[in-house]
Amino acid sequence: MTNITAIEVFPVHLPMIRSFSFASGSAGKAGGKAPHVFVKLTDSEGAVGWGEGRPVPGWSPETLETVTSTLRGYIAPAVIGLPVSDRWGVHAAMQRALGRGPSMGQPIARSALDMALHDLLAKRAGLSLRAFLGGSNERNRMALSYTLTGHDRASILEEMAVGQAAGFLHFNFKAAVAPETDVEVAETVAEHSASGGFVWADANQGFQLHNARRVAKAFESIGVDVLEQPLPADQFEQMVALRASTSIPLAVDEASVGPADFFRYASRGLVDYLVVKVTRSGGIWPSLQQIAIAEAAGLPLLVSGLTDGFLTKMAVCQMALAYGFAGPAALNGSQFTDESALFPRKSEIEYGGSVHLTDAPGIGVEPDETALRAFTA
Ligand SMILES: [Mg+2]
Repeated sequence: MTNITAIEVFPVHLPMIRSFSFASGSAGKAGGKAPHVFVKLTDSEGAVGWGEGRPVPGWSPETLETVTSTLRGYIAPAVIGLPVSDRWGVHAAMQRALGRGPSMGQPIARSALDMALHDLLAKRAGLSLRAFLGGSNERNRMALSYTLTGHDRASILEEMAVGQAAGFLHFNFKAAVAPETDVEVAETVAEHSASGGFVWADANQGFQLHNARRVAKAFESIGVDVLEQPLPADQFEQMVALRASTSIPLAVDEASVGPADFFRYASRGLVDYLVVKVTRSGGIWPSLQQIAIAEAAGLPLLVSGLTDGFLTKMAVCQMALAYGFAGPAALNGSQFTDESALFPRKSEIEYGGSVHLTDAPGIGVEPDETALRAFTA
């Protein structure tokens, strides 16, 4: 087996085409810049794999600068020379280099490396990533969820019409940003969703317990399908209290970084779904462990990403489809960032509110390296 010989890191800024705010901060403003960090991994026979991280300062502690310096200064020296097949060994080396704590540190940097490694391995095997991970090329379509950014009935109706015209069935909205209109927004989304549409509320840690209880009660009667991360990510005991007072399906996102985090919530019966988010969770390898915990606990999946780029979106779709999950996936990067220079053929794969995977080996897409250099931060 070949070894990892080179890791190139490309910190880039992609253009934001729409503003996006949530309870804990913002992913950027229209006309602004979205930080992404790409990784190109090369092995001793010249095979190449690509990975990507999308740090959103304020959503998590990582930034463009920390992802770049962590990869260049700590992860690369720790993993260069290791066999490319050794994902366990690569993650153990990253853990040693970055240190172990109550949760996983620097998951977005780890994820970019892990994704590149999986891309390379699947390409070497001549398999699509989903086939490489144990799935079938036959399962190839992921339904996306459209992200609504408005906080009143009129703007929600307008946005839903745009989403529905583009082929979307599922919708997610950001609660706790304008708490006084959360119930009005939920009612509007539920009322105007087509049959089979999944109504997904994400509070991004924005409620205190008393508000979370009030909103959960209202959402429950409206028929909201899930309330994600209602409480601050470090308030575990408040989730215990909320769970005891509502039967609305609950999920965590920011609170579930490493597999042990999710195990804690699942084993206490506090969550009804695993929200798979590869960048948040340190890559594909540790995300597979979260999926195994969810399967053992009998919990279904959801998929999301915080304006993750197209490469990550493809990787996550490949991984979730390997486990039979076909949506909804709140992988909303295309609504907010312009990646057309990096992925000029994106619209052949993502259209009609779905991602249509090909059978190409690996993740299935690569960024244009010349364009990547042009966007260097
Ligand atoms: Mg979320």
